[in-house]
Amino acid sequence: LGGSISRALQQMSNATIIDEKALNDCLNEITRALLQADVQFKLVRDMQNNIKKIVNLDDLAAGHNKRRIIQQAIFNELCKMLDPGKPSFTPKKGKTSVVMFVGLQGSGKTTTCTKYAYYHQKKGWKPALVCADTFRAGAFDQLKQNATKAKIPFYGSYMESDPVKIAVEGVERFKQENCDLIIVDTSGRHKQEVALFEEMRQVSEATKPDLVLFVMDSSIGQAAFDQAQAFKQSVAVGAVIVTKMDGHAKGGGALSAVAATKSPVIFIGTGEHMDEFEVFDVKPFVSRLLGMGDWSGFMDKIHEVVPMDQQPELLQKLSEGNFTLRIMYEQFQNILKMGPIGQVFSMLPGFSQELMPKGREKESQAKIKRYMTMMDSMTNEGNTNPKLMNDSRIMRIARGSGRQVRDVMEMLEEYKRLAKIWSKMKGLKIPKKGEMSAL
Ligand code: GDP
Ligand code: MG
Repeated sequence: LGGSISRALQQMSNATIIDEKALNDCLNEITRALLQADVQFKLVRDMQNNIKKIVNLDDLAAGHNKRRIIQQAIFNELCKMLDPGKPSFTPKKGKTSVVMFVGLQGSGKTTTCTKYAYYHQKKGWKPALVCADTFRAGAFDQLKQNATKAKIPFYGSYMESDPVKIAVEGVERFKQENCDLIIVDTSGRHKQEVALFEEMRQVSEATKPDLVLFVMDSSIGQAAFDQAQAFKQSVAVGAVIVTKMDGHAKGGGALSAVAATKSPVIFIGTGEHMDEFEVFDVKPFVSRLLGMGDWSGFMDKIHEVVPMDQQPELLQKLSEGNFTLRIMYEQFQNILKMGPIGQVFSMLPGFSQELMPKGREKESQAKIKRYMTMMDSMTNEGNTNPKLMNDSRIMRIARGSGRQVRDVMEMLEEYKRLAKIWSKMKGLKIPKKGEMSAL
């Protein structure tokens, strides 16, 4: 996909005369690529028409940045399509909210329920899980296992076959226990589809959820629109979660889900594990859809804010993909200084949202400083390889820095997480300034 889009844009920029035909050829090529990424045909056609309205042929003919103009226009258009215009209901910590999950069997509901609960629990919430899937044998066991692992209270039954009854009982119980996020998992299959949607309607009517979350597998292809619409017609879907983004699918179906439900995507699932769950971020998603990689925006930022003489060194380190403790330390220093390189790093997907969430900069800085004292203690000890860790070393580091063992473990977890992000940059081509993407 990426190849074909870059090829289309390449051809475009090579053409000496940018006439309507050249633009059309280019758009047709991109259309094919987006269809392959599971973007719905109608949406692609709408986008194509909008681009034609936006992109002025005279500008293209005169300007030397044709590729940039078109790429930017397509990028913006796709971002706009992912924005339904209003934010979804956001639960508030300390106030009771009921969130109901819907979606077809296998889309990842039960897994995502736990991820969602765990995500909030880590931030100090009191979540709880209710299993209202009485259709599939083993549904309750699955939820129970996930919930137990994450130490999240749960409710369900092996005997009761009425999903509405269980849902109501569970929600009531957790309201009494003052949980602030009550999550209702539902069934995704029935003998008949009509019956499934009727069941969703009944559960929703009985539990009065503040938010209904539609869970969609990124690999369902062109079926996304109809599926999302079918759920929307039975219950008031208010937000979307796209799962299995760790697979090959580019997730173009997300655009369909947004269009069909008129609600935003709020999270994506990136693996089977509890913490493989990310806040949805429009730009990296669209970059991926267009095959431009997650790093194009980041690369532009480097050119924008990092002084020229510091760029080669930084890019070189990035392209080696080898994340050492020293690099982590230096980047933390940069972030704390909030100098140009710090700004760039706080923009990296994964660095920004988790390490330095907006509005919590003070807390984050304290955390980073804490990590750094522990890293100092590792350096003093003369062994900075986080891979060579054992219990006694962890204990020594904790003692040496005056912290708890669990703080050291947390720092090492953070290291692993950042190393994973960093390794994605391996082999990164270092573009010259003129070749930067349009993001
Ligand atoms: P449900 O039927 O909608 O409740 O779906 P489940 O939660 O049982 O998930 C179905 C399968 O998809 C399970 O094997 C999950 O481990 C897997 N799964 C869910 N989310 C993700 C994800 O983000 N990435 C990957 N790779 N697998 C996932
Ligand atoms: Mg399930």
